[in-house]
Amino acid sequence: MTATNPASPAPSMVSSIADRFAEVRRRIVEAARAAGRDPASVVLTAVSKTQGDAALDAALAAGQRVFGENRVQEAKAHWGARRAALPDLELRLIGPLQTNKALEAVELFDVIETLDRERLAAALAAAMTRTGRRPRVLVQVNTGAEPQKAGVLPGEADALIAAARDVHGLAVEGLMCIPPADEDPAPHFARLAETAARNGLSVLSMGMSGDYETAIRLGATHVRVGSALFGERNQPPATS
Ligand SMILES: *Cc1c(COP(=O)(O)O)cnc(C)c1O
Repeated sequence: MTATNPASPAPSMVSSIADRFAEVRRRIVEAARAAGRDPASVVLTAVSKTQGDAALDAALAAGQRVFGENRVQEAKAHWGARRAALPDLELRLIGPLQTNKALEAVELFDVIETLDRERLAAALAAAMTRTGRRPRVLVQVNTGAEPQKAGVLPGEADALIAAARDVHGLAVEGLMCIPPADEDPAPHFARLAETAARNGLSVLSMGMSGDYETAIRLGATHVRVGSALFGERNQPPATS
């Protein structure tokens, strides 16, 4: 489906997605106020991986413009054609990025949240030189030091941030994390916030459907919410 031939989602889907957006936005405002924060300081990133055209169009109809995607190819399929008609769209890459896809990622995304190694920083810098585009960058920190999970180890984060900024000239604006699924996320969010403060970074992408209110309490500026907005995903996201 393209921007010139918009999907017409079933009315029931449009209204249920609109209701879910309203509810999540309401809870974001409440969590921010409870933490003594300005609700406008928290951005909702709608995670649109695995969603079909009807769901994407329902989210746009609900006024959503900031979207997170896990995979470069799927993000292109979702947004490549729609993007021309949406000047205020913001696309954020939240899945692992292979070095050989750095060019495509730089061409498509406004923010790349998953920088986790210096080789990728070099590839992104080269892609930016080549394309003239300069997406902002977050460093993903593997706060739980989980072997299977992407992200720089906590003890190596400061060095990667410095190298990305000073050696490769990237616009590093913050940090991102995905805490271990079976642990209290709060200490992970707190550690991410400390690492950001120590490095003079202001953006914190943390919190998903199950824990975004906790993340807001601990300073999240961007919460990445999928299933609470779109319903349960019916297919597991592919790994790259
Ligand atoms: C899928 C995904 C999300 C959204 O998860 P939900 O639990 O559906 O809200 C957030 N962040 C990342 C990195 C994801 O891959």
